[in-house]
Amino acid sequence: MAKRALITGVTGQDGAYLAELLLQNGYEVHGLARRSSSSDVNLSRLQWLGIEREVQIVDGNLLDLSGLIRTMRDVKPDEVYNLAAQSFVKSSWQQPILTGQVTGLGVTNVLEAVRLESPGARFYQASSSEMYGLIQEPMQSETTPFYPRSPYAVAKLYAHWLTVNYRESFGVHASSGILFNHESPLRGIEFVTRKVTDCVARIKLGRATELRLGNIDAKRDWGHSKDYVRAMWLMLQQDVPDDYVIATGRTTTVRDMCAIAFKHAGLDMDKHLIIDPALFRPAEVDILLGDATKARQKFGWEPKITLEDMIVEMVEADLKRLKK
Ligand code: NDP
Ligand code: GDP
Repeated sequence: MAKRALITGVTGQDGAYLAELLLQNGYEVHGLARRSSSSDVNLSRLQWLGIEREVQIVDGNLLDLSGLIRTMRDVKPDEVYNLAAQSFVKSSWQQPILTGQVTGLGVTNVLEAVRLESPGARFYQASSSEMYGLIQEPMQSETTPFYPRSPYAVAKLYAHWLTVNYRESFGVHASSGILFNHESPLRGIEFVTRKVTDCVARIKLGRATELRLGNIDAKRDWGHSKDYVRAMWLMLQQDVPDDYVIATGRTTTVRDMCAIAFKHAGLDMDKHLIIDPALFRPAEVDILLGDATKARQKFGWEPKITLEDMIVEMVEADLKRLKK
């Protein structure tokens, strides 16, 4: 019998790559998606990967507990990957309550539905390196204290501890993956890597002249979503649930990441890059650098795709999209 997985946030970047991986691994994949008047647009990432017909879409919302309970009852998943969230840090200052409801409390809804209807299912929570915020150690691992710096990070921290709590209180096989930033051609256009690669492609094609960014001194530990969804799956194949940091162990400034994109396109960054104070955040996470030793030792996970290769792939994908 094929294993059955339920992915919340299946229309997002990681949801799409995870669905692809699970299908390749022989799973029956169900994906929870918010009902939308433009479902064709909503399914565009699954379409990009050519798997939109293979994923069984279930209408649902993290805010709707009764719908989630019904979904667990109908799907009877072996594995639940909770990837749905209001996931953009900057928006979380504009919509702190919604972010708390979806990214924080919404996880309680999913865990309640699992506990009530699928107590044997294995559960993955998409936790975030943003929880480290104002970093307390130069390299962040599972034992580093948290210091969240945005409503998003505060909501993720609640969800992380709730996942730990359901494991300890109710014996749910619940794991929390503390993933550092990860990108791909399917990354949302508002995140800095994709904003850069899309704009560089536009400048290359003569459709834009400038790229406006905020704090380009910020440093991130960037990996590729394809490598990171493999870690999610590996976590749920462990007999004992646990928490794991997933990161590359290399940190790069926004400026240097940007330079890779401009160089690949054969453009002079200094002629196009403008710093816009309006794009600075009320509180910044200056630097993140993850230590994924535990994941490497427990289940042999290592990233395969470099930042350079990923940025080049993203610029090429944006050129292709724009030329269409
Ligand atoms: P995306 O923003 O690409 O995807 C988020 C998904 O959540 C979308 O499918 C979105 O649906 C869905 N969603 C939003 N609100 C609701 C809701 N109320 N009910 C149901 N679904 C909802 O994020 P990523 O794929 O990049 O990230 C996946 C998860 O991992 C997120 O939880 C994110 O916070 C977390 N994370 C991501 C990192 C990264 O660098 N990418 C790093 C660490 C953690 P719709 O398409 O309708 O908007
Ligand atoms: P985050 O780490 O989840 O907030 O991912 P982002 O890709 O949104 O931001 C990464 C870093 O890039 C943050 O430190 C931002 O302040 C910085 N940054 C600088 N300019 C921009 C910009 O124009 N857009 C975004 N999204 N981030 C920017």
